[in-house]
Amino acid sequence: MILTSSFSFGQNISSSNYASVISIEELQKHLTIIASDEMEGRETGTPGQRKASAYIENQFKSIGLQAPKQLNGYQQFFSLNQDTALKDSLTINGEIKQYGIDYIGNVTLNSTGVFASDSIVFVGYGIEDDAYNDYINKNVTGKVVVFVSGEPKKGKKYLINPTGKKSDWTSSGLSKKMELAKLKGAVGAIYINLLQDNFSETIIKKSLFSDLNYVDNQEVSQKVNCISISHSLATKILGDQFDDYLDAANKGNLLNEITVEKAAKIEYLFAKKTKNILASNVIGIIEGTDKKNEYVVLSAHYDHLGKKNGVVYNGADDDGSGTVAVIEMASAFAKAKKEGHGPRRTIVFMTVSGEEKGLWGSEYYSNHPVFSLENTSVDLNTDMIGRIDTERKLSDTLNYVYVVGHDKLSSELPIINEEANKQHTKLTLDYKFDDPEDPNRIYYRSDHYNFARKGVPVLFFYDGMLLADYHQPTDDVEKINWPLYQKRAQMIFHTAWEIANRDEMLIRDKPLPVGNR
Ligand SMILES: [Zn+2]
Repeated sequence: MILTSSFSFGQNISSSNYASVISIEELQKHLTIIASDEMEGRETGTPGQRKASAYIENQFKSIGLQAPKQLNGYQQFFSLNQDTALKDSLTINGEIKQYGIDYIGNVTLNSTGVFASDSIVFVGYGIEDDAYNDYINKNVTGKVVVFVSGEPKKGKKYLINPTGKKSDWTSSGLSKKMELAKLKGAVGAIYINLLQDNFSETIIKKSLFSDLNYVDNQEVSQKVNCISISHSLATKILGDQFDDYLDAANKGNLLNEITVEKAAKIEYLFAKKTKNILASNVIGIIEGTDKKNEYVVLSAHYDHLGKKNGVVYNGADDDGSGTVAVIEMASAFAKAKKEGHGPRRTIVFMTVSGEEKGLWGSEYYSNHPVFSLENTSVDLNTDMIGRIDTERKLSDTLNYVYVVGHDKLSSELPIINEEANKQHTKLTLDYKFDDPEDPNRIYYRSDHYNFARKGVPVLFFYDGMLLADYHQPTDDVEKINWPLYQKRAQMIFHTAWEIANRDEMLIRDKPLPVGNR
């Protein structure tokens, strides 16, 4: 394998001419600001996040990055909702039921509206799938369906998922079951959570006032409204046999043979208001030369956890370190471009938000890509590269970085990355987190995953700090190991340079990794 940065017009220009732009002074300067109390912990959807995005945008501008033409400026906005219930009332056979005692609503999943019916039908777990169907021989049109949480088992294993593990009827269960009820013609749903006999203060509050939620408009689906009821109300509605159903459901028994239809005059009124808040990814580019319609993405998340009880979670390592690495790599590539040694492929410098909430910003980007994902050669993602994993043993070298994803999607990833590292930075590339048995599931836990699931080869760089100050207010700039941080950022820069300048995009010769978040 020949690895030359071939676009050098006969001069011997390589990434080593520009890596020193990524200096300790510059890293310190930016990270001290990004991780300052001023930024209020950069929580997505708050003023702190907007201050951070403005800072990054200004850096991108002053470095000389272009804003993507497809966007109106450097920010790609995505929508977040916060729901507040305005009205929530349930009447059964003329009796008004008590909120928080008899039942609760679901301010996130329900939409403003009324349902009414004269009869209820018990539909077991509320599942219809190839392997199992609760709706068989049941007519639910115009009626209210009643279902329990969970899914059936066969022996010790779960029935639906061929692996024997829980299926998405459990993981995203309620929403999926509400969609199916709608599809079947039901007008509303009553949900019985096997593990929730009654409702705690926290659960009641959450049912009326939601946290910020990411809603991709493309994914809004049709559902019936649904209420969750206490086990004592369930007994009232379904009769004493409910105890038997509960017992059977707790064992994971099949429930599709049970047929219960009861007359019950039921009316549910729900109304909410939704506050819409915008969050953003900040994106700047350096346009490529002869391969400008192909892309190399350098990503990191700039959001963190915000403030709790007045204490700021500064997130210096997580992921101030990756954010500033992206800014500094942009500086280095911009200098090269200015001196006539710009990259052949277009480099997309992308800092995303919403990561800590559930990879929202990168999910939005991957569903609404600004640049073709088909033509994106690689995403090099950086989330925490400024510290030393406190779990590393004394016998382990501390001159390291964890690299995740090297054995997936493209066989060229490790070859290029290892060679760039060998030539320039000589870090130990530790593949420990690529072990499929690793319980931390790091491959699925940062923004690169949203590129990988779309088939884009990714490498993820990470210091492994899972204990110590991880997600603590003590993740501060004083704890950064600057020489090691610099070396890691430079190593990623060398790798990006090679991938941006070689003749071909990375081949995609390995299957998508199985599993999901
Ligand atoms: Zn992070």
